[in-house]
Amino acid sequence: MRVLLVEDEVRLAETVRRGLVAEGFVVDIAHDGVAGLHAAEDAPYDVVVLDIMLPKLNGYDVCRRLREANNWTPVLMLTAKDGEYDQVDAFDLGADDYLTKPFSFVVLVARLRSLIRRGAPERPTSLAAGDLTLDPRTRSVQRAGVDISLTPREFGLLHFLMRHRGDVVSKTEILQSVWDMNYDGDDNVVEVYVGYLRRKIDQPFGRKAIETVRGAGYRLEGSGG
Ligand code: CA
Repeated sequence: MRVLLVEDEVRLAETVRRGLVAEGFVVDIAHDGVAGLHAAEDAPYDVVVLDIMLPKLNGYDVCRRLREANNWTPVLMLTAKDGEYDQVDAFDLGADDYLTKPFSFVVLVARLRSLIRRGAPERPTSLAAGDLTLDPRTRSVQRAGVDISLTPREFGLLHFLMRHRGDVVSKTEILQSVWDMNYDGDDNVVEVYVGYLRRKIDQPFGRKAIETVRGAGYRLEGSGG
């Protein structure tokens, strides 16, 4: 099991490296984004642990560039609590999992093993629900082949609904994932944004793909890729 650890905090990187080696992993370290990207492109890794705040090229861009180059090595992102980016950004950019710093080493090892078990299949770059498609790489959305322009927040909300298509998701789950964990405003904001989305992805096409499940939340029609 070969791990690439891209982390600029030298002491943290070394601590994690030693721990992973003791668990039987083979570990290479890169201390900045450019070195990390080159290493990930040059050698086959089972998993990449990618810090977000990195010198030269941030983790956000490293992950995006890997995916653009059709490199689907599983990526676990390390995010900071007050970081500029949140988990939705990490998933939008093609990360497979994330951990918030400071993290437990035991949890890190468990997540890495789980990612390695899942492997890195060629995956579709876009999500589909019926004739609605969303491509996270280009941040584009289409219904029946027609381009739909969404704001970043609307896009985040639709991406979340599409990742959970067919399931009922609560306003709280939506708030925590699409806004952020610490958002403490009114959850009516979710209703407002669902309304915006319906006006863009449903009404012009005579659809009702986003269902309101009374007392529970919302459900996006579940068929599709
Ligand atoms: Ca860092």
